[in-house]
Formats: sequence, C-alpha cells, structure tokens
Amino acid sequence: MNLNEENLNRIVSDVLRKVNVVSSEVTPSSGNGAVQSARAAVLRKARELEIVEFPLRQIGPDEILVKVEACGVCGTDIHCYKSDPFGLAPVVLGHEGTGEVIEVGRNIKMDSVGKPVRVGDKIVTSILDTSDSCMIAKYNPLKSNLCDDLKVYGLLPDEPDNHFNGYFAEYLIIRPGSSVFVVNEMSVDLRCLIEPAAVVCHALERAKHCGATLNFRTRIVVQGCGPIGLLMIAVLRTYGINNIIAIDGDPSRLAMAQTLGADELLNYKDYAGIDELAAKVESLTKGLGAHFGFQVTGVPAAFASLFKCIRRGGGICEVGHFVDGGECAINPHKDICRKEITVTGSWVYNSFEYPNAYHFLQRAEGIGLPVASLITHKFPLAQIQDAFEVNLRQEGIKVVVEAR
Ligand SMILES: [Zn+2]
Repeated sequence: MNLNEENLNRIVSDVLRKVNVVSSEVTPSSGNGAVQSARAAVLRKARELEIVEFPLRQIGPDEILVKVEACGVCGTDIHCYKSDPFGLAPVVLGHEGTGEVIEVGRNIKMDSVGKPVRVGDKIVTSILDTSDSCMIAKYNPLKSNLCDDLKVYGLLPDEPDNHFNGYFAEYLIIRPGSSVFVVNEMSVDLRCLIEPAAVVCHALERAKHCGATLNFRTRIVVQGCGPIGLLMIAVLRTYGINNIIAIDGDPSRLAMAQTLGADELLNYKDYAGIDELAAKVESLTKGLGAHFGFQVTGVPAAFASLFKCIRRGGGICEVGHFVDGGECAINPHKDICRKEITVTGSWVYNSFEYPNAYHFLQRAEGIGLPVASLITHKFPLAQIQDAFEVNLRQEGIKVVVEAR
C-alpha cells in the first residue's frame, strides 16, 4: 500500500469517522460532519421507486460532495419510470438538480468556468467527460452532445460503493471529469430550470446556425407548450422576438405561454385540421406563414404538420423527439423542395452552454417573464412516486422533488 499523505489522511479520517469523530485537521475541507448514510430513491424496475438508506462513502481528492436541495422531473425520467428503455435499473434518477457543496476534494479549486468552489456554494452539474472512443466528441468537441455515450448524473449506472449518482437523493458525489457550475446568485427554483433552459438555448443556437433570421420582425411558431416549449417561448422573447405564435391543445398551457411571451395562442382543437390551422397562421403572418418553427411535441404527425405553417425560405428546428415516437409522412415537393425549407435538429446541449442558460433565466426574470412559475408541483423525496404519477397524468408543468 502506498502510504503517501493522501492515503494516510484517508485512513486516519476513516478511523475517526468510525468512532464518530471528524477532525477538521485531518480533512481540512470537510464540511459534512459525520454523515455516514443517506437516502436515495432507487428505480428498482418500471413503476417501482423505493427510498433506500445507503452508506455514504468518503469522497476522493478530485470529488465534491453535494447536499441535494431539489431536482426537476424530466420527460426522460418518466420514460425510465414507465418502461426503463435504457435498461438502467436499478438506478437513482434525477438530472435537473441542484444542491449545496458540503465537502470539496483537495484537488478541486475551481468550477468549469474558473469560479472558486467552496463549502456552502450552490451548484449545478452538466455533462461528464465523453468517452475517448467517441470519434465525434474527439474530433469535434463543439459537437460532444452527439457522443453515443453521453453521461449525466441521474442517468448513470449504479455502482457497488456509491449510489449517489443522481439528484433524487439526499446527496450527490460529483466525480472527476464532471462539468460543475457555481450558481450562488440564483433561487433554488431557477437553478432547477438551468438544465431544461440549456436545452432551449441549444435549440436557439441550432436555429441560428441553419440560417434562421432572428430579429424584432421575425414571426415564429412554437408547436407544443410543455415545459420545454414554454421555455422555448421564454428564450425567444428574452432574445427579442416579438411575434411568437404558440400552438397547443391545452388552454391552461396556452395561458402560461402568454405569460411567458407568446403573442398569439392557437388551440389546434379549435380547427378542423392542419389546413385550417395553417390558414390561421398565414392570416397572422401577412399571408406568408411563419419565418421559423420550433417543434416541441413528441408527436411525429405534429412535425409533419408544422411544414404547412412555415413560409417559403423558412426553417424548422426539431426539438421534441427525445425518444423514438415513430414516423410521419412529409411531402418532399410541397413541404421542403418548393419552399426551400431548412430543417435542423437539436439534441440535448453542451456543457459550455450552461452559462448561457444561466444568463437567459436571469435575464428572463429581469424583463418580467415568470419563468419560475413553470414549477407547479413540489414533493418531498419520500413522495417521489406521487411526483412521477402527477407527471404521468400530465398535471401541471414542471414537478420538482425536494430532498427534504
Ligand atoms: Zn431532462
């Protein structure tokens, strides 16, 4: 055994821990007291979440121990809950989370943008280092979001000695190679929205890169007003877009779309079909159709119908299909070729887009958009199953689980 200083400190610290004494001289950066175990919500199999008390191991010199405060429930969590499509179970889910730094490994000095990391700081995490074998991430780091083996906390396999890999727990151990951001100046609610905000910020960048004109006169359709669609509306409004047409089938979601910056609200159920809906969009866009559309539902037919609402020379960004919902029929002549439509996809985000998401949320609040009101439900960790069931029934917008 290598008895260097670090190993010696760890051995001494472990012994002291066993007798319930933690010496600040042995672990100078320790702020965790004598926490030896903590609760985590384990997805055992589909529709079965169990709160389990696990031992909390000592962190290493390149790790950070975080006391979780809260974490949003994402559509991806719901897919895992319904059928475990990625075969992750048993797994501790939760990737839209935030918490307080309790202990900092001796080698950790700064977060991913150079801010000091200290005990008591509030943090969020983004994507972990991509694997060396991913050619896309290796040769084009700006596209590391397209790595086949994308890793985020809350979608990581369980480990024998550490179950604190997701935010639906009391603690999270941030391992080496993680992107982490200190975000002390933000409310816990807004911090829970940084991850989904990064999704819409990335979609906005994708739209710009496919040549979309985004100025004060641009007319944009946002199709789908779930949490991501509503944040999409808010990011467009914050970015200066004035003519946003929101489409959804739920009046309460459309009402929220209005508070977040939509100018026109179209309930597609009020129209006989897509041709009638497209005619309405045309009437709101000088007879031409929208310049650009963001597709934010998980319904393939919705993607096909969005083409009818876009003007010649316009574009579409597909944001909604995080899982395979099947196929749809497009008329290549009418929908794409004749109109010269540019279609782009948007997949997750990159870590370096987190600061952008942070500034978007801060600015959105600053101009009076009630972004935090997206959080409509809060449940304690012990009632996580209820949180998931509420989400399954599509009640409210964003459900948050608090680690209390
Ligand atoms: Zn998510």
